[in-house]
Parts: sequence; structure tokens; C-alpha cells
Amino acid sequence: AKKLGRGRVEVFSAQMKAQLNNERRFGKQCARGLEKGEFIPYYQAQVDARTRRIVGIEVLARWHHPKRGLLQPAEFIEIAGNLGMLDDLDAAILKAALKDRRAWIRQGVRVPRIAVNVSAARLSDPLLVDELQRLDIEPDTLSFELLETIFLDNSEDGVLANVAGLKAMGIDIEIDDFGSGHASIIGLMKLKPRRMKIDRQLVLPITTSREQKRLMRSIVDIAKALDIEVIAEGVETLEHAKLLTRLGCDILQGYAIAYPVPAADMLARLTQTQEL
Ligand code: C2E
Ligand code: CA
Ligand code: CA
Ligand code: CA
Repeated sequence: AKKLGRGRVEVFSAQMKAQLNNERRFGKQCARGLEKGEFIPYYQAQVDARTRRIVGIEVLARWHHPKRGLLQPAEFIEIAGNLGMLDDLDAAILKAALKDRRAWIRQGVRVPRIAVNVSAARLSDPLLVDELQRLDIEPDTLSFELLETIFLDNSEDGVLANVAGLKAMGIDIEIDDFGSGHASIIGLMKLKPRRMKIDRQLVLPITTSREQKRLMRSIVDIAKALDIEVIAEGVETLEHAKLLTRLGCDILQGYAIAYPVPAADMLARLTQTQEL
């Protein structure tokens, strides 16, 4: 038994070593990628549910990896988080998106609000507001998407202080993936977000389940009671889009509306028409 135990320990530590080496290699690549501007924003349009005009654009990170090609967030966000690099990645994506937006404005198009994803690490950084104030951001047309788990690993006071600072700058707070994790009414009341995005797991079944449809209506009612605008995400069919509009959702986002696209395609979209 002793032998077996030792063997196990060795196997385990060999695995751990391999994993550590992998993470270390990944960390180096990631740091270099950040330096070289390999992380770039993709853009997914959001439309007003009634008019179908583009009223927002979510910024989604992609990694142009020199060897592996274009990587999706599923392949790097979590590891970057484990390595403590997600705050730097968020900062790099925000800067790149602001640069794209300035270029679009120079082209003469009307650019709607852009929404960036902000990790808990970045939101709890006490220097965040100072740092943003030094950027050229036109905060009135910027939103930060925060996960509803934001209070879990962070000091509530730190989070709320930053949220207050962001709002004072004119940056909108939005709760992302509402209903997928630790959705709480108290949390909503503390953060007082401008908008909430209802998770696509709650959106998908509304066309096939009466119960889920009623639930969606109730969530919209709660949001309305708290003066929060509702964005439905994961809108994959026109049937969903119609029903969500009927249930009172304000803004729609999903493949039925538009796919995430690179900056040049987004500009083309904005130039052609603001209706989808
Ligand atoms: P998210 O914030 O919930 O973003 C929405 C995700 O759903 C995106 O995946 C988007 O491409 C995808 N999506 C959009 N419409 C539909 C649809 O109709 N159906 C389905 N099935 N999916 C749809 P993506 O781009 O792979 O991003 C995944 C996650 O990675 C994001 O989820 C977000 O949590 C995270 N992420 C992406 N970019 C950043 C970033 O710059 N910073 C941070 N901290 N996280 C990011
Ligand atoms: Ca860091
Ligand atoms: Ca998001
Ligand atoms: Ca989301």
C-alpha cells in the first residue's frame, strides 16, 4: 500500500509539474501577446427591440496567436485569470476598442454605446477610476459589464467605491449573465446598474416552455420595478426576437441579430445602415 501511495504521489506531482510548465509557457506567451497587441476586440451589435436600430456594441476579446491562429475567449480567459493577467487583458482590450471607436468617428459614422467586459480583478483595483480618468474615453457612451458574482471574492466596499466612481464619470454599469449564477435582488439594489443582460440559458427555452416564458416576463418586471433596462443575450432566432420584444425586453443581442465581427466589418455595418 505504501508503494502504491508513493507511486500516486509521483504521478500526481508529474502531472502538476506539466500543468505548471504549461501555465508558465502560456503566461509568457500571454505577456508577450499583450506587448505585441495580439489581443484584439471583436464587436457584436445590439439593437433596440422595437426599432431594430443599433444602440450598442459589445466588445469581445480575441487572440491572434502567432502559431495557433485566432483564439476564442474559452481558450484563454480562464487561464489568464488564474495567472492574474485578466486585468491587463481587459485594459488592453478597452484601449484597442477606444482606438477603433475614434477611427470610426473620424470616418463620420455615429457610433453607439460600446460595452466592455470587466473582470472582478480589474473592478476591485483601487486605481481603476484614476487610470480611466487619464484615458481619452468619452465616458457617456461607455458601459462596463460586470458579472453578478462580483461581490463573491472581493471586498464589497471596494467594488461599490469603484462602481460609484465609474458612474460619476458617466460610465454605465451593466450586470452580465443575469440569472446564471448568484442573481440577487439585494445585489441589484446595491449596484443599481443601468442595464442587466439576461443570460442566454434563460432566453433559449422561452419559445418552447410556457413556464420559462412566464419567468422571463417576471424578470423583466423586476428590472422595470428597479428602473433597469433589459438586454436579452443569446437571441438565436427571429421567433425569440419577436417574443422577447413582446415580453418587454428593451435591447436584443445574439446570432439572429448579428455575429461578433472584426473592427473593419463593424465599421462597414455602421456605415451602411444602423438598422438590422
Ligand atoms: P459573455 O460576456 O456572456 O459574452 C457573450 C458570448 O456569447 C460571446 O462569446 C458571444 O460571441 C456569444 N454569443 C453571442 N450571441 C450568441 C448567440 O446568439 N448564441 C450563442 N450560443 N452565443 C452567443 P465569446 O466571444 O466566446 O466570449 C465568451 C466569454 O468570454 C464572454 O461571455 C465573457 O465572459 C468572456 N470575455 C470575452 N471578452 C472578454 C474581455 O475582454 N474581458 C473579460 N474579462 N472577459 C471577456
Ligand atoms: Ca495583473
Ligand atoms: Ca458580456
Ligand atoms: Ca453575457
